[in-house]
Amino acid sequence: MGERIRCRKCGDILQSKYRHDFKMCRCGSCYIDGGDDYCRVGGDKKDIEWIDRKENKRKQLRSNWYTEGKFGEKYREILDTNNKYLYSQGRYHTKIKKEDLTEDYIKFKSRAIWYMTGYIRTSGVVDIGYTYIKENHLFKDDYLYISYKEKLKFEENKLGTLQYVNYDMSICGNSIIPILLAIEVNSNVDINIVKEKIYEKVEWYKNNYKEDYIRQFGNENTDIFEYYNELQNKN
Ligand SMILES: [Zn+2]
Repeated sequence: MGERIRCRKCGDILQSKYRHDFKMCRCGSCYIDGGDDYCRVGGDKKDIEWIDRKENKRKQLRSNWYTEGKFGEKYREILDTNNKYLYSQGRYHTKIKKEDLTEDYIKFKSRAIWYMTGYIRTSGVVDIGYTYIKENHLFKDDYLYISYKEKLKFEENKLGTLQYVNYDMSICGNSIIPILLAIEVNSNVDINIVKEKIYEKVEWYKNNYKEDYIRQFGNENTDIFEYYNELQNKN
């Protein structure tokens, strides 16, 4: 059927359906020709939007998370962080750029991906869990566990510690709440149990490190979720 283009100047959508089907937009900025046989396009590149290519990219988004750069062989080594093409799961080269990602992909930084810039899908999440450690920071060693396929299982490991075992992705650090809030919007999953757990940690932290809490969030009564909500609205 031939690819479709949209003229960014006049908005016309053009498609050349067969070899000699020449189509020009009403403002004359661009044209398309050749159908499926040779697809020729003319005009200024910046005026032309490839509609089907964008749709095809959308369909290519099969990974739950992408990174700018990839994991190296050595511990915490990251490579190729300036490549405009993203890596799937920090490992596999793709032809996807950050502009190709849909809105449900949330940008994050986390030690979990060795502080590369990542993008995680917040739609299609089926279960979430949260664990925290009683230490002098709020989220650094606390984890949000995400499953895209099944309910999370909480099981005892060899050392006798209870932990989530079948998650697809785990996030630590300051991106936990923004990702959680996006999951609430984009997925059909109840975030309240995790929210309560976070409040539990916040209470413990406030009781033990009140000064630090005030320094970070301005006031001991600051609600942590409202704080992050406002932060996002500013951006
Ligand atoms: Zn036009």
